[in-house]
Amino acid sequence: MRKLPNIIVTGTPGTGKSTHGERLAELMPKMTYVSINEYIKDHSLQDGFDEELQSTIADEDKLIDLITPDLEIGGRILDWHVCDIFPESLIDLVVVLRTSTTLLFDRLKGRNYPQKKFDDNMDSEIMEIILSDARESYDPQIVIELYSNDKDDLESNCQRIESWTKQWIIDNDEDTQ
Ligand code: ADP
Repeated sequence: MRKLPNIIVTGTPGTGKSTHGERLAELMPKMTYVSINEYIKDHSLQDGFDEELQSTIADEDKLIDLITPDLEIGGRILDWHVCDIFPESLIDLVVVLRTSTTLLFDRLKGRNYPQKKFDDNMDSEIMEIILSDARESYDPQIVIELYSNDKDDLESNCQRIESWTKQWIIDNDEDTQ
């Protein structure tokens, strides 16, 4: 049985996944933050390149094969905009970050994405695509939607996730069962 939970931090690009992941790792040194984009690069898990979107295509089967043993150990904070491919039995919390469209517009403008990628991401946020994917792929009770508009949101979200993690550890401690 895992002693630490696995948490997915997901959301449209620009909503603050990496900012939250890094802050969570500071607050909870026993947890390991994994940027899946970096993991794909580090482990050569690319399966082509989408020229139109200027995006790497990931080999998701290889990614799951490689990361599953880490998830079985537990204590992973996974940061990726795709949330629905990880084994349901190994995921304890799915945090879907949301950002107001005006703020997201400004954040994405700074990234110099191709127009189609920019439009697709804005549409995805407006249509709540990632939230729907998360609720369809995992028990909706473990999916939480949190706003990431400003620094106060960042801090309160991370504290909330830290409290949740502490409680998970108590609830799953074999010695107290
Ligand atoms: P993602 O990993 O989802 O693509 P980032 O964490 O890279 O998003 O954040 C995108 C930009 O928005 C960064 O400049 C970051 O500092 C800013 N940002 C993200 N979340 C917040 C927040 N809650 N408050 C203020 N700025 C934020």
